[in-house]
Amino acid sequence: MGLLTQGRPLTWAETKKYTQYTREHGVEQFINLYKKLKDRRNDCLKWGDEVEFIMVRFDHEKKKVQLVLKAHKLLPILMEPENQNCDNCTSLWRPEYTDYMIEGTPGKPYGYLPAHFNMVEANMRLRRKQAQELLDKDEYVISTSNFPRNGCPDCTWPTYKSTLDTSVSNSLCFPDQVIFPDHPRFKTLTQNIRSRRDAKIALNVPIFIDTNTPRPFIEDFSIYGDDYGAYGTAALKDHIYLDAMGLGMGCCCLQVTFQAQSIDEARFLYDQLTPLTPIMLAMSASSPIWRGYLAEIDCRWNVLCAMSDDRTAEERGFEPLKNDRFRIPKSRYSSVDCYISPESAKYNDIEIVQDMNVFNKLIENGIDHLLAQHIAHLFIRDTVILFEEKLHLDDTKDTDHFENINSTNWQSMRFKPPPVNSNIGWRVEFRPTELQMTDFENAAFVTFIVLLTRAIMTYNLNLLIPISNVDENMQVAQQRDAFRHQKFHFRKSLSTKQTPNTPCMNSVQKNIFQEDNPENRCEHRLMTINEIINGSNEFVGLLNIVQEYLTNIEVDADTRCTINQYLNLISQRAAGTLMTNASWMRHFVANHPSYKHDSVVTDEIAYDLLWKMKKIANDEDHCPEVLPKMSSKTTLDVSAAIQKANNELEVKRSLIQQNQSLKN
Ligand code: ADP
Ligand code: MG
Ligand code: MG
Repeated sequence: MGLLTQGRPLTWAETKKYTQYTREHGVEQFINLYKKLKDRRNDCLKWGDEVEFIMVRFDHEKKKVQLVLKAHKLLPILMEPENQNCDNCTSLWRPEYTDYMIEGTPGKPYGYLPAHFNMVEANMRLRRKQAQELLDKDEYVISTSNFPRNGCPDCTWPTYKSTLDTSVSNSLCFPDQVIFPDHPRFKTLTQNIRSRRDAKIALNVPIFIDTNTPRPFIEDFSIYGDDYGAYGTAALKDHIYLDAMGLGMGCCCLQVTFQAQSIDEARFLYDQLTPLTPIMLAMSASSPIWRGYLAEIDCRWNVLCAMSDDRTAEERGFEPLKNDRFRIPKSRYSSVDCYISPESAKYNDIEIVQDMNVFNKLIENGIDHLLAQHIAHLFIRDTVILFEEKLHLDDTKDTDHFENINSTNWQSMRFKPPPVNSNIGWRVEFRPTELQMTDFENAAFVTFIVLLTRAIMTYNLNLLIPISNVDENMQVAQQRDAFRHQKFHFRKSLSTKQTPNTPCMNSVQKNIFQEDNPENRCEHRLMTINEIINGSNEFVGLLNIVQEYLTNIEVDADTRCTINQYLNLISQRAAGTLMTNASWMRHFVANHPSYKHDSVVTDEIAYDLLWKMKKIANDEDHCPEVLPKMSSKTTLDVSAAIQKANNELEVKRSLIQQNQSLKN
């Protein structure tokens, strides 16, 4: 969600005067932080998830579902336990961009114990319940990446009308009242991004052409108001026109943050997880419907990129550079542009636009090339949100100007340095995954990603492919039913010289541990998601690596059972025997009795779809096309398993001590 500074936000005209000033101080703050914390070691492996829920209201008489704008009312109540005693809460809550979203995380990050995997789903369920209990009759908490009719007339409760030129979004369809009202960050960010860009935000998403879709499909914007028909001139035929930051930032996602033992490990993890971002995006796809129309895309990613794009015409390459500093190929919301570990340098094959003054300053201060390049790349963006009270800071103590740039570079991975004066270590955040309709699926994705990071670190694997191929994968991942029909660049052999070699290897181990033949020039090739996850004769499969890792650690029976069910979901989804949420939603719409095969997802269809999703998420209905018919053994209380693990650790420690005293 980013930095939540309080105070008076500056307009873009005011902010602009300080962009160079905040850049210089932001870099200074990073250098100070780096010098202080670069040698920080032995932080333990911690991790945690973030889930963004939406709140909806069902009108059973009118068969209509609307977004409920009351996050500002719920959050003070949800945050009360944290305000009372933050050491002892089960969950933490934060505002998000819109007033229909709430972001929940576990009360404390999880740790190294396998038993923690058994708590994820239970904690997600608890969060859903905590929010649900505060809602009124017919109102429900739903987890999904995009509300299918967001931006349609009357799609919120209460209902508002967009006011175009007098609103911060300047949108045909997204009223200011939908933006979270109780923190100035969100509206100011919207206004400033638009002012900086000096043009309307716009994206045309290709519509899914069904048998009765009018050709050409041309939208009639007079549905938003009598005189609105003249707007939307940038709308293309056969496309769905999106024109508000909120249509992107109002989407929800599932993020995971990891703490590494050191800065080097964090950089290693950042790089290794980067090739997985498109794969997880495709497998978690859950956004096939935009503003009431079926689209050709299944994911939110490109919409977010376009709706948060603050680049000027010069930066986008439409005009020669005159007033601006760089030509910038991507939005500030985008997939990562460069790996950051020195060993990964050869895979950085796309142009990395950098602020060379920043780069030189970092190099002068002893920061190595790859990290300096990453930071200098972040700083090609201007600060777009500044608070009057936070302009002049002590660069040895504060990091706000750095954090501000880092947290408004919304990339598929984020490298998060430790906050100063905290006991938090170097972290990375995995950000592409779309939100699933059930806690079971969300927990499965989180568990799979965390297990994979453990396996990658334990076996010292290498998943790197050229970053241009990751970018290509990112585009492919968003296409309709990509998980079944598309192929992705993936590394042929994941082992390295440092990967351990065991004398008697089984076939999986052979596959993981044997290095690729150096004669093989190209290290990667196109694979289906099924091959990447489940493996083939030629490729080991990520699930087999995770399974191999699991056989080598001690996991209590309940946790093992839960993990098996999660991995089963991942395996079946990769194989295509279970659908993604996106595919299932398409299927639901196509088979709805009132669907006219014209690409239109009416109020009634959206109502039935969301009602079904609400029932599935609350165990009142099944969805065998998406979910295996099983339930995990998840629990909030893993104290028995943790106690057992602690006892075993104690025994091991005393044995080591005994051994040492014998030697002495
Ligand atoms: P952001 O706002 O940058 O996305 P948050 O600070 O909201 O991130 O935290 C995101 C996640 O990080 C949460 O799931 C939280 O449990 C987890 N987390 C908090 N502290 C740590 C830590 N020291 N190591 C790893 N994860 C952590
Ligand atoms: Mg986050
Ligand atoms: Mg967050």
